[in-house]
Amino acid sequence: RSDEVVLSIQHLTKQYGQRLAVNDLSLDVHRGDIFGFLGPNGAGKTTTIRMIFGLITPTSGKIEMLGQDLAHHRSHVLPRVGALIETPALYLYMSGIDNLRAVAATLGGVPKERYQTVLELVGLTGREKDRVRTYSLGMKQRLGLAIALLQDPEVLILDEPANGLDPAGIVEMRDLMHRLSEAGKTVLISSHLLSEVQQICSRVAIINRGKLVTETTVSDLTRGQGEFEIRLEQP
Ligand code: ATP
Repeated sequence: RSDEVVLSIQHLTKQYGQRLAVNDLSLDVHRGDIFGFLGPNGAGKTTTIRMIFGLITPTSGKIEMLGQDLAHHRSHVLPRVGALIETPALYLYMSGIDNLRAVAATLGGVPKERYQTVLELVGLTGREKDRVRTYSLGMKQRLGLAIALLQDPEVLILDEPANGLDPAGIVEMRDLMHRLSEAGKTVLISSHLLSEVQQICSRVAIINRGKLVTETTVSDLTRGQGEFEIRLEQP
């Protein structure tokens, strides 16, 4: 595991009235990690991710990404971060590649060769000229990832990317994440299902009621600490 910390969350807290949505959360994500950010519904995952992107302001604490304090340097750092934090807004009656072109036009500075690179990375080569409405859910999700990868980000933050994927889709997602990790990218993936991320991630942090429960490797978690699985998998 690389020594370089790419994302450092330090004593992060978000309070809504009496409710602590995120409660003194500290986490380090290293370069090349495929890091699962795991917790039941309402645990505080989305609130944390929204704070990373500056969509909401922390009550207290600090977030550093790529060595910069996000409270002061967000506009420098965020162009180096790819995100898939909602169901991607795709143009269903346009082709996959035209969706990439449309987003690239709003970003600016994306070289044309990049389209084929990202299509290949996500395994959509050969289908790029088909209308997106003919894509499966997994393919749409991968096109969303291709969009997130357009600017060749160093860090990728994905909110529930495995949601609704079938087992084959999960395997494709795992292979893609491993390719990205091998290329030195760092990935943070949120999920409320351990079974979803245990195949994809190398490390996981489990949060519950805004607090960190544990942070460990997936193999240690699945070997010794099955109680988390039981607690998290309950509806
Ligand atoms: P999910 O998987 O359902 O998205 P989550 O882990 O992402 O869950 P959050 O959405 O971050 O959880 O919510 C954490 C807690 O903060 C919840 O109890 C939620 O009700 C509360 N919360 C979130 N946003 C607000 C808000 N704007 N005002 C008040 N409470 C909020």
